[in-house]
Order: sequence, then C-alpha cells, then structure tokens
Amino acid sequence: MSDPSPLGNFNPVDAPGYESILQCMRCGFCLAVCPTYALTNRERSSPRGRAALARAVAEGKLEFSPAVGEEAFFCLDCKACSTACPSGVRVGTIMEFCRSQEQVFHPPSLPAGMLRDFILRRMLPSPTLMETSLLPLRLYQRLGLQWAVRHLGLNKCLPDVLAKLEGLLPPLSRPLRREIPSLIPAQGKKRGRVAFFLGCAMSLVFPEVSRQTARILSQQGFDVATPREVKCCGAPHLAEGDRESARHLALINLDLFLGADADYIVTDCAGCGCALKEYDELLEGRAEQERLGRFRAKIRDISEFLAEVGIRTEELRPVPVSVTYHEPCHLVHGQGLSGPPRQVIGKIPGVELREMKESTWCCGMAGSFALKEIRTSRRLLERKLFHVKATGADVLITANPGCHLQLASGLRELGMKQPVLHIVELLGRSLPA
Ligand code: SF4
Ligand code: SF4
Repeated sequence: MSDPSPLGNFNPVDAPGYESILQCMRCGFCLAVCPTYALTNRERSSPRGRAALARAVAEGKLEFSPAVGEEAFFCLDCKACSTACPSGVRVGTIMEFCRSQEQVFHPPSLPAGMLRDFILRRMLPSPTLMETSLLPLRLYQRLGLQWAVRHLGLNKCLPDVLAKLEGLLPPLSRPLRREIPSLIPAQGKKRGRVAFFLGCAMSLVFPEVSRQTARILSQQGFDVATPREVKCCGAPHLAEGDRESARHLALINLDLFLGADADYIVTDCAGCGCALKEYDELLEGRAEQERLGRFRAKIRDISEFLAEVGIRTEELRPVPVSVTYHEPCHLVHGQGLSGPPRQVIGKIPGVELREMKESTWCCGMAGSFALKEIRTSRRLLERKLFHVKATGADVLITANPGCHLQLASGLRELGMKQPVLHIVELLGRSLPA
C-alpha cells in the first residue's frame, strides 16, 4: 500500500495506494458476497462502488467528502470481497486507509474525539487499565444487577448503544494475564516451543479460551512461553483509522515476540492473527525487512497451527455433541483459513459437524460497527442465527471474541439454547483432565 501517488485529494499521510485502487476492473464479482451491498442494494456501498469512490478522490475528481468517510465506516471490513475478487483488490484495507483520512478531513467533535483518544491511546495499550475498567462490570454482575436488568426488561429503557453494550456483556471472570505462567512446559515428547500471543480482548473477556489454548499447546508437546508485556495487536486502531498508534503497538510486539525465541507465535483470536500477519505491511520502512519477514513466518492461528503440526489424538476422549461452525471474517477472508478449523473439529471423537448456510457471511459485529450501525448489525445477526437454527446443532463454534460476543447475545435474545464455544474450548473438553 506504499506505492507512489497520485494522491489527488487524499492527505499524503496514510493514503490508500493508487495502484491498489486501480486494480479494480469493475467486473462485479464481489457484489454477491458483500453484506452491505446485499442490505442496501446501493452501488456506493458495494466493494466496486467503494473502490470507485477512492479512485475518484485519488484522481482529484472528488473531494474527500463526509459521504466518502461515511462509506468507509459503513464497510464492515469483513474482507469477503477480497476472497471473491479475481484482481486481488482489498477494498476492506482501502477503506481502513480512508478511515485514517476521515480523521484528518473530518475529525470527531471534542467530546467524541477525547473518548476515542482515551480508548485507543490510553486504554487499549494498557492491559492494566483494561483490566481495571472491567471491575465495575464484574461488580454489576456479582451484585445481581445484570440479572435484574435483563429479567425485568430494564435494558429496553436504555439508549440503543447502552442496551447493545449490555446485551453483549458476557459473564466475566478474572482476566488471565496476571495468572498465566510465563512458561508452561511441554507434556510428553517435546515437539517445539511456541510463544502464545495472549492479546487483550480474548484473555480479558474469555479467559477460559486463552487457558484452554495454553493447555492444549502444552498437552500437544510444546513449551508455551507467554510474554505478559504483550500489547494490543493494533486491529482496533486500524479499524478506527489510527494507524500511528497501531504502528507503535506493532513495534513493541515485534521486539517482544522475536525476543521470545520461539518456533511459532500462536494466537487464538482471528482478529489478532489477521493484524499480526499484516505487520510487514504496516511497519514497512519502520522496521528491518528481515525481522518483519521472520516475524510473519512464525504467526499461526491456533487451528492453523494444530492442523499443520498434526494433532496427537491418542489421549482424546469422545465429546458426543453436534456443532455448527461460524467462520470469523478475519480467519476465512483475512487469513484464508477455512479448512484448518474444520480439520481440528473433525479430529475430536464424537463430534458431528453440521455445516450452516452462509458460514462465511459476517455476523454483524465487525469491531465497533455493531455499536454504530445497530439496526444493520442486527439484520446481519438475525440472518446468521436463522442459518444456525436450521442446522439444529447443539453448539455453535467460532474463533474470534467479537463474533463470540455478538452470536451469544443474539442467541440469548432469541431464546435459543445453544452455547457458543471457541474451537479450543471444544477440543479442551476432549483432553484428559
Ligand atoms: S473489487 Fe474486484 S471483484 Fe469487485 S469489481 Fe473490482 S475487480 Fe471486480
Ligand atoms: S470488506 Fe465486506 S463490507 Fe466492505 S466492501 Fe468488502 S465485502 Fe463489502
């Protein structure tokens, strides 16, 4: 994305690369897979339309108007169009750059800007602050206030954004970061050493997922080193158009994880994996190419890793359950990983995988999209849950904390009984205690 101008009406800092925009030949293959186009039937809300908007700005035919910024944020960055595109156009990424431009041309008002800066530049880079911020919410749950709010229907009286946030809130327990040993030794015959990218969201809101990931890696014969100084991967910053903060965090993680001297760097969060695999682009010119290449070569999603090294199955016990699998956008489209999660599920004795229709279709979470575009997000969620229900599966499996939150809240609202589990939680049930 660092190809030469013309910049046209873009600001020179963090503008989308002109060559990448020009790759769009307007064939329209992407239209059928774009959720925002399917919902609106509006050309400007399609991948082709968004590429055309970016091209018009780059060629000086269009100002970077509020409508362009609006369209950049209305894109889910689900990357489904990249999978479908024969020219390799990455409209989601082009829109990420346009979100950075939006901050320059139309910065948020003072209170909104201060809140944004606090979250992106203070809170997300500080695991301690993130953990502290959850304390009032844990108290809210412990005191039974959440139960009362939900059972008395008080959440219906809340403003839409607060009601959505309340609905997303999962049962919280102690975050894992301070408790996880910095080194968990391999069990049985040792196969190597991995560095576990704990990230922030997963170990904070779904600590059991992170616990199971470390346990499985160790049980599979790997020493598990977990650097506790890990920072947010930067994905939320890229999504919100703050590439400078994303670069700052990426440089810290690069040093930390290359220093961990591991054969692989493994993550259980699809969003983190996607961001980590793009550090070489993000940090181009800011870090040595050799180090970026070495880092990139080590990154694996947990299911990708297990499928690659081969799962030791001799100790696995049957888990008699039927499951269906929702593919996180950042796994299937962002990393091209559709087979490995199914391979892992297929190795667990007793598990029946029932495929849902449109398993690769976005669930509507898409970072902060679910809070900003509540009605659109809801329509996407309902479409997803319709297909989940049709499978009749006992359990819904996914592999990303954002999807997990969105799907669990939707199931609960509709009174559907299926629990949502991460793949490693399902595999963990098959491991000996
Ligand atoms: S983004 Fe790709 S698939 Fe869509 S119109 Fe352009 S070239 Fe065709
Ligand atoms: S990233 Fe998703 S929402 Fe955005 S243009 Fe592509 S398919 Fe549409």
